Amino acid sequence: LVVKRTAPEAAPYRQVLAAVDLAQEGERIVTRAARIASLHGAALTLLHVIDSFPVDRSNTLIAPEDQDPLDYQRADALHHLEALADQARVPQCGREVAVSARKASREIPLIAAEREVDLIVTGAHGPHGLGRLLGSTADGIVHRAPCDVLVVRLPTRT
Ligand code: AMP
Repeated sequence: LVVKRTAPEAAPYRQVLAAVDLAQEGERIVTRAARIASLHGAALTLLHVIDSFPVDRSNTLIAPEDQDPLDYQRADALHHLEALADQARVPQCGREVAVSARKASREIPLIAAEREVDLIVTGAHGPHGLGRLLGSTADGIVHRAPCDVLVVRLPTRT
């Protein structure tokens, strides 16, 4: 947990943001973020950044000819985020799902700042060798975050 708080130590989190890579263990991140948001009475935003195009998550994700591929991908991502939020039983009133397109490690801290998020929950596969604790996305988020970051350890990639 990287602590960058300026708020009083005991103040609960108000805005939690879960960074969800749909190709990976999004469920684990959302479950952890939902639990913390619930304990703190905070709102929860689930954010996915479409930073690679076309995606390799599923080769069924090919837009019909009459649809813009990015819009199609965005709608699909929103649908998946809603499903993850439902699965983690995040109440409708305290949640938001968001999809953005650009580079995840830059976009996530920017959106966190815009939304006055006070805790980002991200995953990290580890260990990464050569003394690196985190992968590039988690590393970028931790360095650029305007707030606290909770790094959820994910299974090491093989
Ligand atoms: P990585 O460093 O790529 O292994 O990713 C580590 C964590 O960063 C993931 O578990 C997610 O929490 C977050 N992340 C990576 N890519 C994205 C993305 N495209 N959109 C949102 N979050 C992401």
